[in-house]
Amino acid sequence: MLKGKVAIVTGGTRGIGLEIVRTFKENNAEVILFGSKKESVEKAINMLKEEGHIVKGYYPNLSNYEEIEKIIKEINNIYGHIDILVNNAGISANKKIEETSSQEFESIMNLNVNAIFNMTKAVVPYMKKQKDGVILNTSSMVSIYGQPSGVGYPASKFAVNGLTKSLARELAPNNIRVNAVAPGITNTDMVASLPKEMIEPLIKTIPLGRIGEPKDIANAFLFLASNMASYITGVVLSVDGAARS
Ligand code: NAD
Repeated sequence: MLKGKVAIVTGGTRGIGLEIVRTFKENNAEVILFGSKKESVEKAINMLKEEGHIVKGYYPNLSNYEEIEKIIKEINNIYGHIDILVNNAGISANKKIEETSSQEFESIMNLNVNAIFNMTKAVVPYMKKQKDGVILNTSSMVSIYGQPSGVGYPASKFAVNGLTKSLARELAPNNIRVNAVAPGITNTDMVASLPKEMIEPLIKTIPLGRIGEPKDIANAFLFLASNMASYITGVVLSVDGAARS
């Protein structure tokens, strides 16, 4: 479904992002994964190599626009085009507001929102030149319903939806589609790090009766990245088993 496409996936070293990388490779894309550290990037590249998937990796500071701009230029020089950007890197939060420092709030916004701005700003000039591109953002079901703690996380994901819908309108004349996927609770390290008392009652309320697997989410990204979604832009696609928390 992605033959000949070049895709960049942030937060591609584990969890949902790693599964997106794997799924895109299974569909014949060239994939470049971004992670936060050299070691985790190398680990993911080696794991994928053992599965028969060759990918390239970088670990830029996603808050640093100049650093990103340089890497995006390098990727474009190597591959000649950049067709798909998946802004997936993200961190969550679960503390009550009185226990959350303003620095903690800022660091969530910095990765979950500002990094999307930086990555998108760096990639758009290449996509505009091609008159073709797909930008996909990882939102969350909390971007629709909020959550009863860790306010920075849902606030950041509401912003992701705002970026998605607004950029879809801004970039549509350039044939660049911008969509988001809003996963429900998904079986990754992010969920493993949250308290059981928070997660277990939520899983019980999911009508499909189970937690999401990274592949459930990656398949939605594959569809939106592919030409099968050629008339879809500005959408936040819920992939959550009808969970309504
Ligand atoms: P994860 O913790 O398993 O992976 C997070 C990824 O983000 C990693 O690849 C990591 O390298 C990257 N990352 C973390 N901090 C970074 C930083 N400072 N700079 C650059 N990269 C950094 O999480 P996941 O569950 O796979 O989450 C991926 C995305 O899915 C996130 O945006 C998250 O908000 C969203 N999401 C997850 C769930 C869930 O239940 N797991 C639900 C809804 C949305």
